[in-house]
Amino acid sequence: MRLLFVASEAFPLVKTGGLADVAGALPQALARLGADCRLLLPAYPEALEALGRYRAVASVGDPYGAGQARLLEGRLGDVKTWLIDCPPLYSRIGNPYLDAEGRDWPDNALRFGLLGWVAARLSQPSSPLPWRPDVLHVNDWQAGLAPAYLSAWGGPRPGTVLTIHNIAYQGLFPAETMVALGLPWSMYGIDGLEYWGRISFLKAAISYCDKLTTVSPTYAREIQTSPHGCGLDGLLSKRASDLTGILNGVDYEVWNPEKDPHLAHPYRPGDAASKAANKAAIQAELGLSTSAESPLFVVVSRLNEHKGMDLVLAILPFLLSQGAQLAVLGSGDHALEEGFRAVAAKHPSQVAAVIGYSERMAHRLQAGGDMLLMPSRAEPCGLTQFYAFRYGTVPIVHGTGGLADSVVDVSYDSLQAGAATGFSFGPPTASAFQWAVERALALFRKRATWRRILAAGAAQDFGWDASARKYLNLYSALADR
Ligand code: ADP
Repeated sequence: MRLLFVASEAFPLVKTGGLADVAGALPQALARLGADCRLLLPAYPEALEALGRYRAVASVGDPYGAGQARLLEGRLGDVKTWLIDCPPLYSRIGNPYLDAEGRDWPDNALRFGLLGWVAARLSQPSSPLPWRPDVLHVNDWQAGLAPAYLSAWGGPRPGTVLTIHNIAYQGLFPAETMVALGLPWSMYGIDGLEYWGRISFLKAAISYCDKLTTVSPTYAREIQTSPHGCGLDGLLSKRASDLTGILNGVDYEVWNPEKDPHLAHPYRPGDAASKAANKAAIQAELGLSTSAESPLFVVVSRLNEHKGMDLVLAILPFLLSQGAQLAVLGSGDHALEEGFRAVAAKHPSQVAAVIGYSERMAHRLQAGGDMLLMPSRAEPCGLTQFYAFRYGTVPIVHGTGGLADSVVDVSYDSLQAGAATGFSFGPPTASAFQWAVERALALFRKRATWRRILAAGAAQDFGWDASARKYLNLYSALADR
């Protein structure tokens, strides 16, 4: 099985969120299962630096007059990795999607159009490389034009799969961008790229892909309904027979408290003394009072309403009144960043706000926290709840998408069965959230019960193998057509 996996970020080359974790780990898991899997992404400066060793293997063209694009080849673990080198489009400092002021790069249509164009070109008989994929797997809107280009060009094509990691991001651009992208106007229609008078890269992929997946079974059902489908629910329900949900996995090489280089005290799941030492270490580092009894809630998240971060702010007075602590790591909406900063400034021994991105701090918070807050209004899969299980931190989640598929709410029955792994609430309101936190606080003080919840979480295995096998089955069905 020759597979080309296309994404706009992949850990450890470049990461802004969960997509990078998936694109970093799934190709490795597929390679371990015997697939000849190659990874394709843009050559951002930080990705080149992280890749370390690479060489130019092909010139791929200049479809937009932005400059000749070359393919640089390196290796990530078991996977041959190709970075598209086109300095006028990619060689800039900052986030893959946003400039320093948090605005979309103005030429994102071309930057990610090129990603799709190169993926399509490498899938065609005229590819500059001798290797061609049996299946082309594109991820999210950034890679979404690849199947559209294949349809526009005609001729033989590999099987195509789109994975939707988050339907809320659709890659919308003015209709005239069709010209710059070299796509025919015949594809600008309701069955093609057109979306309310603009073009949508995500819709392009949904329209022209053979198979669609998303990252949890519940989210696969939710996005066929309004408002979860963000305007694409009709199209997705039309394609329901081609759409499946495959839960993401965890890279336990990276998220393993026993050999985590970021931790003050690496520990085995269940080792309460070391867990307590990590809690004391993070409390000290963040200037919180080093109290073992104060429950420490943690957040590792993009800070926006989609993630329900306004709900965390809404229940903060309650947390403070209970003598609890909160440590937030994240960045995003300015108002939310400021909101957390302000409470932290007022209550420095109880609240810490680390605004920014830090892999090290993310690991240390998972290790030091007692409970992880994830009140996401929508959550395609979510990854931090999986990390929390392994790190002995109990997730409190809104029961949606992948959170509904992975967290078993504490109830009398689930506790008796040893199945309860966290606290789940709905609807996504401050009062329902606060009630879940109240239930958690009550059980936090009952140590034997709490240990049962921790043990059930630690026993969960969300490794990539099972999910990778599901993807392989999907690819095989496509390649055998
Ligand atoms: P999403 O992809 O929607 O952002 P996920 O839960 O699927 O959410 O994945 C988030 C990933 O990004 C996790 O690996 C989490 O640890 C990481 N992450 C989020 N915010 C930060 C941050 N500020 N610093 C470090 N890691 C972060």
